[in-house]
Amino acid sequence: MARALIIGGGIAGPVTAMALQKAGFDTTIYEAYDRSADGVGSFMNIAPNGLDALACLGLSDLVRGVGFDTPAMAFYRHDGRRLTGDIAFDRVRGTGNTTVERSDLYIALRTEAERRGIPIEYGKRVTDAERIGRTVVATFADGTRAEGDVLIGADGLHSRVRDIIDPAAVKPRYVGVLNAWGYLPNHPTDEAPGVIRMFFGKKCFFMYTQAPSGELRWYANPVRAERPDPKSLRGGPAWRDEMASMFERDRSPVADIIRATQDIPAPFLNCDLPSLARWHHDGMVVIGDAAHAASPTSGSGASIAMEDAVVLAKCLRDQPTVEKAFRAFEAARRARVEAVVAQGKRNIEGNLLGSFRGAMRDYFIARTYKKPQTDGKRTLWMHEHHIDWEGPVTVGAATAA
Ligand SMILES: Cc1cc2nc3c(=O)[nH]c(=O)nc-3n(C[C@H](O)[C@H](O)[C@H](O)COP(=O)(O)OP(=O)(O)OC[C@H]3O[C@@H](n4cnc5c(N)ncnc54)[C@H](O)[C@@H]3O)c2cc1C
Repeated sequence: MARALIIGGGIAGPVTAMALQKAGFDTTIYEAYDRSADGVGSFMNIAPNGLDALACLGLSDLVRGVGFDTPAMAFYRHDGRRLTGDIAFDRVRGTGNTTVERSDLYIALRTEAERRGIPIEYGKRVTDAERIGRTVVATFADGTRAEGDVLIGADGLHSRVRDIIDPAAVKPRYVGVLNAWGYLPNHPTDEAPGVIRMFFGKKCFFMYTQAPSGELRWYANPVRAERPDPKSLRGGPAWRDEMASMFERDRSPVADIIRATQDIPAPFLNCDLPSLARWHHDGMVVIGDAAHAASPTSGSGASIAMEDAVVLAKCLRDQPTVEKAFRAFEAARRARVEAVVAQGKRNIEGNLLGSFRGAMRDYFIARTYKKPQTDGKRTLWMHEHHIDWEGPVTVGAATAA
């Protein structure tokens, strides 16, 4: 049985391991951190295309089970007035749309992988890898090594495997805004839970969604045109005051929500990775954020990482050699994922428009979604992507807006 070394136990890693197991591979996951890092991160949306990919492996109910249903989104002006009604997310093959805590998602996927008999080795940070004959040998920071037939770099935005494959690989691009977030327990409201509410503030984009428990989870993109030193970014009361002041003149509920949030974590840089020259080399390949990170503002990075995982396993299952499988994988995926990354960048630019162009944006959004509960056609090309586990890999599926 062919053996796959999977570097990274985030989202793409465990899903790839389970897909490859289904394709007949012997897989092991190597994760840099120990289990205590499970709690790091904020919340995220898993779109219908992500849940569709998971359905190939019997994982979509598991993920929906740790999240909550997110049936719709709504847009608001800076003054708190609605631009749209609640717009139902694309209902693609009934897969739904889910909001989940990053840590809950990681734990659920890792636990399920282990339940299926896939070993996960924690505290294994890959530092180097090379092909020796027909074997790929990975070296870890603790001095240990592992050998396999293929090595899959699912090690995220700051991937080490990407640099091993191509030492000249581009670095993540800072896109001019920060990621900020906070949680507000038991926020009283008579609004429907699960709806993503997005506010085009005069100075900053803000969104929140309310869990069925009453907890309100928010996310914002404060502008920092010059890339700050990540170590200089701090959370806490001073950051809360600074964030609230960005919305003070908006007359929306946002400033009050921020002020009521007790603990605001330090923000971090919003980055993407638009186009990588080389995805694979010498029995190694990168997938997920390691290959093509979409800005969090796309709301799609995790979902396309799940698609990658399943498509890569199909390619390795169906192609006669590893090299051909990696080429088929890149041919099937590159155009689509780069279109998603570009959409994420466009979303950021749209959120930052000045008063005249912002007013034009508001007008077009209101016109596009005039009737409440219309289909979210603007995102259909992203969400309707479907993977048939049994069938051949299709090239160039669902790439254009
Ligand atoms: C604030 C925020 C909000 C987001 N919201 C959304 C959203 O709503 N919807 C959405 O679809 N996406 C969202 N994303 C993007 C999403 O989180 C990523 O696209 C997704 O996590 C990519 O999965 P991955 O498995 O490729 O990488 P990761 O989830 O980053 O996992 C990489 C793993 O590799 C490990 N690792 C790193 N280096 C090494 C090494 N050298 N050796 C071994 N292991 C290593 C890491 O510890 C980690 O466990 C958001 C991102 C952020 C930051």
